[in-house]
Amino acid sequence: MSQKYNATVVQKILVRPNLMILRVATDEPRASFAAGQYTTLGLYGYEPRSENSEAEAIPSKPDKLIQRAYSIASARHETQQFEFYISQVKTGQLTPRLFHLEVGDRLFVGRRIVGAFNLSDAPKDKDVVMIATGTGITPYISFLRSHIMERPESKMVVVQAAAHQGDLGYFSELSFLNNAFPNFHYIPTLTDADELWPGYRMWIEEMLESGVLGKEAGVECNPAETHFYLCGNPIMVENVSKWLIEHGYQKKTRKTAGTLFVEEF
Ligand SMILES: Cc1cc2nc3c(=O)[nH]c(=O)nc-3n(C[C@H](O)[C@H](O)[C@H](O)COP(=O)(O)OP(=O)(O)OC[C@H]3O[C@@H](n4cnc5c(N)ncnc54)[C@H](O)[C@@H]3O)c2cc1C
Repeated sequence: MSQKYNATVVQKILVRPNLMILRVATDEPRASFAAGQYTTLGLYGYEPRSENSEAEAIPSKPDKLIQRAYSIASARHETQQFEFYISQVKTGQLTPRLFHLEVGDRLFVGRRIVGAFNLSDAPKDKDVVMIATGTGITPYISFLRSHIMERPESKMVVVQAAAHQGDLGYFSELSFLNNAFPNFHYIPTLTDADELWPGYRMWIEEMLESGVLGKEAGVECNPAETHFYLCGNPIMVENVSKWLIEHGYQKKTRKTAGTLFVEEF
């Protein structure tokens, strides 16, 4: 029944009960990919679900391979071990089964790595602002692991929004980069922080409106100088896109040029 499985779990880190980093080794290497791209993960419907999940909203068929898209967090040269950052949808078909996996378990990883959410669209002398909620941080981790050394002339900013500090995935890695690279700035913001949080407590649109990017990173919201990337929750993407478009940005599509790049999960 598990004939399509072609990869093995090598590491599982539960960041929160519904948030995990999953590293998998594929039996065969994949072709090289661009930072920010995604592939598919799959498990059969007969696989058990995690203990903290709920009944499926739409029941899956036991003998069907359930496949979904996941962005790759790894650097682009890692073509046989891949890191994913996954949020459990408790009533979902695939994620509760992914959360039940343990080291050594088998699963399916797509042979193709695809997607057009690429840092190479932003010239190396232009500044880049990467905005994320939730697991939308994943392609930026790949961007930074792959390219931070190659862009010394570019200011690079990650704005990460979450409810609580524990929801800020990759906080340690991003804080380290913030200290190690003078051109990299990490600006986390929490909407439901406790009193110990020393950082921002604003919505992303408020941060843009009140000039936080200029103050913290010396970056302008000007399409001639700064390219924006948005990834994550569709409501955040819609609201921040609206603000940027009102401030002169144009969304990049397959057919049109632009300095606003969007990936919705
Ligand atoms: C290009 C791309 C990249 C992606 N990368 C990632 C990634 O890096 N990490 C990640 O965790 N997910 C990522 N996703 C989302 C992922 O593909 C699945 O949609 C998600 O994991 C839910 O799968 P599921 O089978 O458990 O739920 P499903 O059974 O597919 O969904 C059940 C219902 O849950 C709701 N739902 C779906 N997704 C979510 C969600 N994210 N949060 C809350 N409710 C939801 C919807 O109403 C849906 O009808 C990505 C999606 C795309 C298109």
